[in-house]
Amino acid sequence: MLKRVIVIGAGFAGLSAATSLADKGYEVTILEKNEMAGGRARLFRAKGFTFDMGPSWYWMPDVFETYFARFGKTPADYYDLVRLNPSYTVIFGPNDAVDLPADLEGLKQLFDSIEPGSGVRLDEFLRQAAYKYEVGINNFVWKPSRSITEFLSLKLLYDVTRLDVFQSFASHARKFFSHPKLLQLIEFPILFLGATPQNTPAMYSLMNYAEMALGTWYPMGGMHEIVKAMVSLAEEKGVTIRLNQTVQKIDVPKGGTVAKRVITDKGTFEADVVVAGADYNHVETSLVEPGQRNYDDAYWQKRVMAPSSLLFYLGVNRRIPRLQHHNLFFDEDFALHAEEIYTNPRWPTRPLFYASAPSKTDPGVAPNGCENLFLLIPVAPDLLDDEPTRERYYDLIMTRLEGYVGESIRDHVIYKRSYAHRDFKADYNAFRGNAYGLANTLMQTAILKPSLKSKKVTNLFYTGQLTVPGPGVPPSLISGLVVADEVAKEFAQAESPTVPNSQKSSYKNL
Ligand SMILES: Cc1cc2nc3c(=O)[nH]c(=O)nc-3n(C[C@H](O)[C@H](O)[C@H](O)COP(=O)(O)OP(=O)(O)OC[C@H]3O[C@@H](n4cnc5c(N)ncnc54)[C@H](O)[C@@H]3O)c2cc1C
Repeated sequence: MLKRVIVIGAGFAGLSAATSLADKGYEVTILEKNEMAGGRARLFRAKGFTFDMGPSWYWMPDVFETYFARFGKTPADYYDLVRLNPSYTVIFGPNDAVDLPADLEGLKQLFDSIEPGSGVRLDEFLRQAAYKYEVGINNFVWKPSRSITEFLSLKLLYDVTRLDVFQSFASHARKFFSHPKLLQLIEFPILFLGATPQNTPAMYSLMNYAEMALGTWYPMGGMHEIVKAMVSLAEEKGVTIRLNQTVQKIDVPKGGTVAKRVITDKGTFEADVVVAGADYNHVETSLVEPGQRNYDDAYWQKRVMAPSSLLFYLGVNRRIPRLQHHNLFFDEDFALHAEEIYTNPRWPTRPLFYASAPSKTDPGVAPNGCENLFLLIPVAPDLLDDEPTRERYYDLIMTRLEGYVGESIRDHVIYKRSYAHRDFKADYNAFRGNAYGLANTLMQTAILKPSLKSKKVTNLFYTGQLTVPGPGVPPSLISGLVVADEVAKEFAQAESPTVPNSQKSSYKNL
C-alpha cells in the first residue's frame, strides 16, 4: 500500500511539498481551509478588476525554474513572464523620484549621477552579492537545518567567512555608498526580510543581486498564475486537493508518538505522515496537544516577526500616468517607521508605503481605461486593527499618493477593500496577524529557526514561511521541496508508482 501523506494548507509550501511527495510515489491529499488554493497568494475579482491578494514581486526566476524543472517542466509551460523596465520607481518626495533601470549599465549611470564614482563600487558590491547568492540560494537554503553538522564541511565554513554572516547589512552597505538615496535604494530589498538593515546579516546583499542583476518579473495574469501552475502540476502528479476543509486536530492516539489521522470540520483523513504547511504557531497551539509541541509560548513570544501589513485593493476608473508598476514611497523617515515596527510597536506616525499598479503591465487585471491599485503599509504585528484606523491611514497615504501623481484618485475609486491583522488571522490563522512570517535576523537563521520536524510526533513535519528557509515565495517553494526530501529519507516508499489522477481539476476559477 502507498504511504498516505496529509498536507495541511495549499499555500506555496504545501503545494510544493505535496507535488514533490506525489512525484516520489506517495498518496498525497492537501486539506485547505479556504475556498481557493494559494494561501497568501490568493486572488479575488470585483467590478471587473482582478486583485492579487499578497505577493506582487516576482524575484529569483531561477528558483521557479528549478522548482518546475524537478518535474520536467518550466514556468513557460504555464505562464508568460515579462521583465519589468524600469524595475521599480522610488519616490523620495513629490518632485523627486528615480526609475530603476533593468539593465546594469543604466543602473550604474544612475548611481554615478547621485554619487560620483558609485557606479564602479556598485559593480564590486554586486560581484560580492553574486557570490552570496550562489552560496545562499544554491546551497544554504536547501539545508533542512536539523543539525549544525549539516554546516560543518570545510567548504561551507570557508563560505560562511565570505558570506559576511556576522556583519550587519547596514555597515556592509556603508563601505560602498554614502549618499542617503543610494543607501535607501540598496537597503530597500532588506525590508522584504522583515528586519532593519542593522539587524540583518550582510549575507542578504544576495537580495540586491536578485533584484538588480536577475531582475523584477511579472507573470501575465498576475502572481496567482504561479499558484494555478502549481495546482495544475500537483494534480498532474496525483495530488488530491480538498478545499474548504479546516483542520481541527492532528490526532495522535493517547500515549503514542505517531499521528494517525487528521480531523477537519468535514471529516477524518487517515495518515502515515503529516506535513503541516499552515502557520507553524497555529499548528502547535491549536492542532496538536500541548505535550506534542516543539516550542512553548515563551519561545513564540520571543520570536521577532516580520511586519504585518495594512493593504488596500482599489479599482480606479481612470489611468494614472505618473505611476509605474511598482512604486515605493520613501518620502518619510525610514528610521522612525522601523522603530515603530520593531522597537516600539505601534501604528506608524508617518509610514513609508508601496503602491503597485499591475494594470500598467497587464491590461487584463482592470477594465478598459481603469487602473488596478494595490497599496501596502508595513506595520507591526498584533496591533489593534479597526475600521477607523484603516480609514485614517487610507487618507494619509492617499494624500501623499495624490500629491505625487498630481491628480485626485480618491474621487475615482470605484472599488475599495482593506485588509490587515484581523484578516490575516481569520483567513490564515496567522500568528499575531503576521503577513510574512519571521524576520530574517541572524538569531532566526537556519538551525535557529523553528524546526521542520516535530520532536514529539515522529511522523509530523512542518513547512512554510515560519520554518526553513524563511518567508517569500521562492523560499516557500524551497521549503516544500526540502521537507519532502526529509519525509522520503525517513519514510521511504516501498515502490514508486505514478498515482493516476482520477480527480477533476479542483482549481476553482472564480
Ligand atoms: C501582503 C503580502 C505581500 C507579499 N509580497 C511578497 C512578494 O512580493 N514577493 C514574495 O516573494 N513574497 C511576498 N510575500 C510573502 C509570501 O507571499 C509568503 O511568504 C508565502 O506566500 C508563504 O507561503 P506559505 O505556503 O508558507 O503560507 P500560506 O500562504 O499562508 O499558506 C498556508 C495555508 O494554510 C492554510 N491553513 C491555515 N490554517 C489551516 C487549517 N487549520 N486547516 C487547513 N488549512 C489551513 C491557509 O489557508 C493557507 O492557504 C508577501 C506576503 C504578503 C502577505
